Amino acid sequence: MRKKLVVVTGASSGIGRTTAIRLAEKGYPLLLCARRLDRLTELNLPNTLCEQVDITKEGEFEQALVKAQKEFGPADCLVNNAGVMLLGTIDTQDESEWKKMYDVNVLSLLNTTKSVLSTMKEQGAGTIINISSIAGRKTFLNHAAYCGTKFAVHSLSETMREELSSFGVRVTVIAPGAVETELLSHTTSDTIKDNYNSWKEAMGGALDSEEVAQAILYAYERPQNVCIREIVLAATKQSL
Ligand code: NDP
Repeated sequence: MRKKLVVVTGASSGIGRTTAIRLAEKGYPLLLCARRLDRLTELNLPNTLCEQVDITKEGEFEQALVKAQKEFGPADCLVNNAGVMLLGTIDTQDESEWKKMYDVNVLSLLNTTKSVLSTMKEQGAGTIINISSIAGRKTFLNHAAYCGTKFAVHSLSETMREELSSFGVRVTVIAPGAVETELLSHTTSDTIKDNYNSWKEAMGGALDSEEVAQAILYAYERPQNVCIREIVLAATKQSL
């Protein structure tokens, strides 16, 4: 049977990139979104529409979705993966960094989800996979605003799940611990970055994005009447 459209936000690096590659290997038609279009097109994946989308900009995601649904049919799965982590102490961090994180990690995730829901409800099926974090379950120093965004992802996902269950639409939260990606590189404080890297070294290295991609695929590929509500995964030696 022909596979249905899967949409991945933030597919230009890290977890989103690996997930896109694995989904393509399994034959899913894809809509990949990110600001760095060249990083999407260089993947050269089959049955894939690559769209330059800044998910914080009104209408950009919706336009890409319309284009993809015209080509591949209704979206069956949305992986809300795009995210930013700008670590900082509460008394020194610039508020523009807080705003950016809430904009990308929370408000844009709500918007992308809203955009796919009318189709999924019509179909009586669909899957929303929200990439949260262990930082959405417990706090960490220097993570005040980031933890705030990821606690929000956990809580809004549970409300979504409750609201959508009767329509046959599943909502899954994936909550990884530290993963080796570009995520930390956008933090502006070198001291915080150095300490974070030492922490990763002490745990024998963070998770590979492959492990998170496999968790996403596992959740999505259960039968539609099974909702994996949450997967929490981290390096064994990550104690926090
Ligand atoms: P990366 O920095 O490697 O990837 C982040 C992705 O988000 C990129 O593809 C980036 O694309 C995209 N993105 C950021 N801002 C925007 C925007 N405004 N519009 C569209 N796309 C955007 O990090 P990860 O792979 O680690 O992060 C993926 C998710 O996993 C995030 O939600 C993160 O919070 C979560 N996570 C990561 C952990 C880790 O330790 N790495 C641990 C737990 C959770 P581009 O810049 O091209 O727009």
